[in-house]
Amino acid sequence: DKTEWGMTPQTVNAYYNATKNEIVFPAAILQAPFFDAKADPALNYGGIGAVIGHEMMHGYDDSGSQFAANGNFDNWWTDSDRAAFTQRTDQLVAQFDGYESLPGVNVKGKLTLGENIGDLGGLTVAYDALQMALKEDPKANVEVDGYSQDQRFFMNWATVWRRNFNEGELRVRLNTDPHAPANFRANGAPSNMPAYAQAFECKAGDEMVRADDKRVVIW
Ligand SMILES: [Zn+2]
Repeated sequence: DKTEWGMTPQTVNAYYNATKNEIVFPAAILQAPFFDAKADPALNYGGIGAVIGHEMMHGYDDSGSQFAANGNFDNWWTDSDRAAFTQRTDQLVAQFDGYESLPGVNVKGKLTLGENIGDLGGLTVAYDALQMALKEDPKANVEVDGYSQDQRFFMNWATVWRRNFNEGELRVRLNTDPHAPANFRANGAPSNMPAYAQAFECKAGDEMVRADDKRVVIW
Protein backbone atom coordinates (compact mmCIF):
# COMPACT_ATOMS: atom_id res chain seq x y z
CA ASP A 1 0.00 0.00 0.00
CA LYS A 2 1.93 2.98 -1.27
CA THR A 3 -0.24 5.47 0.62
CA GLU A 4 0.60 4.00 4.03
CA TRP A 5 3.10 5.75 6.31
CA GLY A 6 5.85 3.86 8.08
CA MET A 7 5.30 5.73 11.38
CA THR A 8 2.27 6.88 13.33
CA PRO A 9 1.47 10.63 13.50
CA GLN A 10 2.23 10.49 17.26
CA THR A 11 5.86 9.40 16.75
CA VAL A 12 8.64 11.96 17.32
CA ASN A 13 10.82 10.84 14.42
CA ALA A 14 11.12 11.10 10.63
CA TYR A 15 12.23 8.88 7.78
CA TYR A 16 13.28 8.53 4.16
CA ASN A 17 12.05 5.58 2.16
CA ALA A 18 14.28 4.83 -0.84
CA THR A 19 11.79 2.55 -2.62
CA LYS A 20 9.25 5.37 -2.73
CA ASN A 21 11.80 8.20 -2.84
CA GLU A 22 9.76 9.75 -0.04
CA ILE A 23 10.47 11.73 3.13
CA VAL A 24 7.94 11.65 5.99
CA PHE A 25 7.59 13.88 9.06
CA PRO A 26 4.97 12.69 11.54
CA ALA A 27 2.95 15.48 13.18
CA ALA A 28 4.56 14.87 16.58
CA ILE A 29 8.02 16.03 15.45
CA LEU A 30 6.56 19.38 14.38
CA GLN A 31 6.74 20.76 17.91
CA ALA A 32 9.47 22.16 20.19
CA PRO A 33 12.37 21.79 20.36
CA PHE A 34 12.28 20.74 16.68
CA PHE A 35 9.76 23.32 15.51
CA ASP A 36 8.03 26.29 17.09
CA ALA A 37 6.25 28.83 14.89
CA LYS A 38 6.97 31.51 17.52
CA ALA A 39 10.72 30.74 17.81
CA ASP A 40 13.49 32.67 16.06
CA PRO A 41 14.71 31.20 12.74
CA ALA A 42 17.89 29.66 14.22
CA LEU A 43 15.92 27.25 16.40
CA ASN A 44 13.73 25.99 13.60
CA TYR A 45 16.54 25.62 11.07
CA GLY A 46 18.82 23.93 13.63
CA GLY A 47 15.94 21.65 14.68
CA ILE A 48 13.38 20.53 12.10
CA GLY A 49 15.38 22.17 9.30
CA ALA A 50 18.34 19.91 9.98
CA VAL A 51 16.02 16.90 10.32
CA ILE A 52 14.45 17.68 6.93
CA GLY A 53 17.94 18.07 5.47
CA HIS A 54 18.97 14.77 7.07
CA GLU A 55 16.07 12.88 5.48
CA MET A 56 16.76 14.49 2.08
CA MET A 57 20.40 13.40 2.31
CA HIS A 58 19.39 9.78 2.88
CA GLY A 59 18.50 9.81 -0.81
CA TYR A 60 22.20 10.45 -1.47
CA ASP A 61 23.85 8.36 1.24
CA ASP A 62 25.73 5.08 0.77
CA SER A 63 22.42 3.19 0.46
CA GLY A 64 19.91 5.72 -0.96
CA SER A 65 22.31 6.73 -3.72
CA GLN A 66 21.89 3.25 -5.21
CA PHE A 67 18.19 3.85 -5.83
CA ALA A 68 16.93 5.79 -8.85
CA ALA A 69 14.25 8.52 -8.72
CA ASN A 70 11.49 5.98 -9.33
CA GLY A 71 12.56 3.98 -6.27
CA ASN A 72 14.13 1.11 -8.20
CA PHE A 73 17.46 -0.38 -7.13
CA ASP A 74 19.29 0.96 -10.14
CA ASN A 75 22.70 2.61 -10.48
CA TRP A 76 22.42 6.14 -11.88
CA TRP A 77 25.97 7.27 -10.97
CA THR A 78 29.14 7.39 -13.06
CA ASP A 79 32.02 5.21 -11.85
CA SER A 80 34.19 8.26 -11.17
CA ASP A 81 31.48 9.94 -9.06
CA ARG A 82 31.05 6.75 -7.07
CA ALA A 83 34.80 6.47 -6.48
CA ALA A 84 35.05 10.11 -5.34
CA PHE A 85 32.03 9.65 -3.07
CA THR A 86 33.53 6.56 -1.45
CA GLN A 87 36.83 8.35 -0.91
CA ARG A 88 34.97 11.09 1.01
CA THR A 89 32.67 8.75 2.92
CA ASP A 90 35.68 6.65 4.02
CA GLN A 91 36.85 9.74 5.93
CA LEU A 92 33.50 9.89 7.71
CA VAL A 93 33.79 6.18 8.56
CA ALA A 94 37.20 6.91 10.09
CA GLN A 95 35.84 9.89 12.07
CA PHE A 96 33.13 7.82 13.77
CA ASP A 97 35.36 4.76 14.19
CA GLY A 98 37.47 7.10 16.31
CA TYR A 99 34.74 7.83 18.89
CA GLU A 100 35.01 5.72 22.05
CA SER A 101 31.53 5.32 23.53
CA LEU A 102 32.20 2.84 26.34
CA PRO A 103 35.66 1.96 27.64
CA GLY A 104 37.25 -0.02 24.82
CA VAL A 105 34.10 0.07 22.65
CA ASN A 106 34.07 2.45 19.72
CA VAL A 107 31.25 3.56 17.43
CA LYS A 108 31.10 1.52 14.20
CA GLY A 109 31.81 3.96 11.38
CA LYS A 110 30.56 1.64 8.62
CA LEU A 111 27.34 0.70 10.42
CA THR A 112 26.47 4.33 11.11
CA LEU A 113 27.72 5.79 7.81
CA GLY A 114 24.34 6.47 6.17
CA GLU A 115 23.07 8.35 9.22
CA ASN A 116 26.29 10.32 9.55
CA ILE A 117 26.12 11.32 5.86
CA GLY A 118 22.55 12.44 6.57
CA ASP A 119 23.61 14.52 9.56
CA LEU A 120 26.57 16.19 7.86
CA GLY A 121 24.76 17.01 4.63
CA GLY A 122 21.51 17.84 6.42
CA LEU A 123 23.06 20.22 8.94
CA THR A 124 25.07 21.89 6.17
CA VAL A 125 22.04 22.45 3.93
CA ALA A 126 19.96 23.67 6.90
CA TYR A 127 22.71 26.15 7.80
CA ASP A 128 22.73 27.45 4.21
CA ALA A 129 18.93 27.74 4.34
CA LEU A 130 19.16 29.76 7.57
CA GLN A 131 21.60 32.17 5.92
CA MET A 132 19.17 32.62 3.00
CA ALA A 133 16.26 33.21 5.36
CA LEU A 134 18.22 35.80 7.36
CA LYS A 135 19.23 37.56 4.15
CA GLU A 136 15.61 37.79 3.12
CA ASP A 137 14.55 39.01 6.55
CA PRO A 138 17.50 40.86 8.15
CA LYS A 139 15.28 41.96 11.07
CA ALA A 140 15.24 38.33 12.21
CA ASN A 141 19.04 38.26 12.51
CA VAL A 142 19.05 39.16 16.20
CA GLU A 143 20.80 37.91 19.30
CA VAL A 144 18.60 36.03 21.76
CA ASP A 145 19.77 35.51 25.35
CA GLY A 146 23.15 36.85 24.27
CA TYR A 147 23.63 34.29 21.48
CA SER A 148 23.78 34.95 17.74
CA GLN A 149 21.51 33.21 15.26
CA ASP A 150 24.44 31.05 14.11
CA GLN A 151 25.23 30.04 17.69
CA ARG A 152 21.60 29.25 18.45
CA PHE A 153 21.35 27.17 15.26
CA PHE A 154 24.10 24.83 16.47
CA MET A 155 22.86 24.92 20.07
CA ASN A 156 19.43 23.68 19.00
CA TRP A 157 21.03 20.93 16.92
CA ALA A 158 22.65 19.78 20.18
CA THR A 159 19.39 20.25 22.10
CA VAL A 160 17.45 17.86 19.86
CA TRP A 161 20.07 15.17 20.58
CA ARG A 162 19.64 15.21 24.38
CA ARG A 163 19.37 11.48 24.97
CA ASN A 164 20.90 8.91 27.26
CA PHE A 165 21.10 5.11 27.45
CA ASN A 166 22.08 2.81 30.26
CA GLU A 167 25.24 0.80 29.64
CA GLY A 168 23.55 -2.42 28.54
CA GLU A 169 21.30 -0.68 26.04
CA LEU A 170 24.21 1.39 24.73
CA ARG A 171 26.31 -1.76 24.29
CA VAL A 172 23.53 -3.37 22.20
CA ARG A 173 23.02 -0.23 20.14
CA LEU A 174 26.71 0.19 19.35
CA ASN A 175 26.51 -3.18 17.60
CA THR A 176 23.07 -2.91 16.00
CA ASP A 177 21.81 0.67 15.68
CA PRO A 178 22.70 2.42 12.40
CA HIS A 179 22.51 5.71 14.36
CA ALA A 180 25.59 6.68 16.39
CA PRO A 181 24.92 7.55 20.06
CA ALA A 182 23.34 11.00 20.27
CA ASN A 183 26.34 12.74 21.89
CA PHE A 184 28.49 11.87 18.87
CA ARG A 185 25.76 13.00 16.48
CA ALA A 186 25.58 16.34 18.32
CA ASN A 187 29.33 16.93 17.88
CA GLY A 188 30.23 14.88 14.80
CA ALA A 189 28.76 16.97 12.00
CA PRO A 190 29.50 20.46 13.46
CA SER A 191 33.18 19.56 13.97
CA ASN A 192 33.45 19.28 10.17
CA MET A 193 31.79 22.65 9.53
CA PRO A 194 33.80 25.90 9.30
CA ALA A 195 30.52 27.68 10.13
CA TYR A 196 30.56 26.09 13.60
CA ALA A 197 34.14 27.17 14.30
CA GLN A 198 33.29 30.67 13.12
CA ALA A 199 30.14 30.87 15.25
CA PHE A 200 31.95 29.94 18.46
CA GLU A 201 35.35 31.45 17.60
CA CYS A 202 37.13 28.09 17.76
CA LYS A 203 40.74 27.92 16.63
CA ALA A 204 42.64 25.28 14.67
CA GLY A 205 43.55 22.48 17.06
CA ASP A 206 40.44 22.92 19.23
CA GLU A 207 38.50 19.75 19.96
CA MET A 208 35.51 20.79 17.84
CA VAL A 209 37.66 21.71 14.83
CA ARG A 210 38.78 18.78 12.71
CA ALA A 211 42.12 19.33 10.99
CA ASP A 212 41.92 20.31 7.31
CA ASP A 213 43.19 16.90 6.14
CA LYS A 214 40.53 15.15 8.25
CA ARG A 215 37.64 17.54 7.67
CA VAL A 216 34.84 15.73 5.82
CA VAL A 217 32.81 17.39 3.07
CA ILE A 218 30.36 15.22 1.15
CA TRP A 219 27.30 17.22 0.06
ZN1 LIG B 1 18.39 8.96 9.29
